[in-house]
Amino acid sequence: TLSLRALHKSFGTIPVLKGIDLHVQRGEMVFVLGPSGSGKSTMLRCCNRLEEPDSGAILIEGDLLTGPGVDLNKMRRRIGMVFQSFNLYPHLSAMGNVTLALRRVLKLSRAQAEAEAMAALRSVGLSDRARHYPAQLSGGQQQRVAIARALALKPSVMLFDEPTSALDPELVGDVLDVMREVKDQGMTMLVVSHEMQFAREAADRVVFMDGGAIVEQGPPDRFFSMPEQERTRAFLSRMR
Ligand code: ATP
Ligand code: MG
Repeated sequence: TLSLRALHKSFGTIPVLKGIDLHVQRGEMVFVLGPSGSGKSTMLRCCNRLEEPDSGAILIEGDLLTGPGVDLNKMRRRIGMVFQSFNLYPHLSAMGNVTLALRRVLKLSRAQAEAEAMAALRSVGLSDRARHYPAQLSGGQQQRVAIARALALKPSVMLFDEPTSALDPELVGDVLDVMREVKDQGMTMLVVSHEMQFAREAADRVVFMDGGAIVEQGPPDRFFSMPEQERTRAFLSRMR
């Protein structure tokens, strides 16, 4: 479980998160929707302390991630993050990118790291691309390497921030398929994405954010067919 409790965050005098309460159960995939600037990325970034929340608490499996005395590196190991821009090292192969994370973060030996990296690349369908460099991979393949890199560290939670937004439409499906497999393996996932169809099919719950607050949430069936709040309806009608 990932729990956000009364999370507040301002940039200067502008409040961006106004008391977010959100609990993602173990093995649950929660989708976050909301207009640009509603605070979705800031919320995810607070979860691994790329941004410091001003107040509130974040817990993973009941362990407090916020507050003094938390070992940031140890804590970040438990949370994998995948961004819109894949952030791969261009001078390292797919294998090299995943291996580096394993060696740096988990301090594995080269041999152990390579074995784990290969397993992670296989799990995203890229065992035959291990020696390719990012420039030799499609955007979808690069994003799958980024997912493999995060998964290789065996996090308890995976955060995705618009993982398919930078991809050509024909490459989106492969990445969504991998995300579905990650979910089927039992991963706890918090996903910001505008892939409505995928949300309908695969999400356990959809959360709608606006103006730094959660406006409405529910199972995808109900959320998409019978949104309760006017703001949700307005947003969904613009997305169609
Ligand atoms: P999008 O859908 O466009 O990605 P978002 O919901 O992810 O939007 P955030 O990136 O979380 O929105 O931004 C929320 C608000 O916080 C925006 O008004 C943004 O301009 C502001 N903001 C985000 N990061 C910073 C920063 N480092 N410094 C100042 N303001 C910031
Ligand atoms: Mg964002």
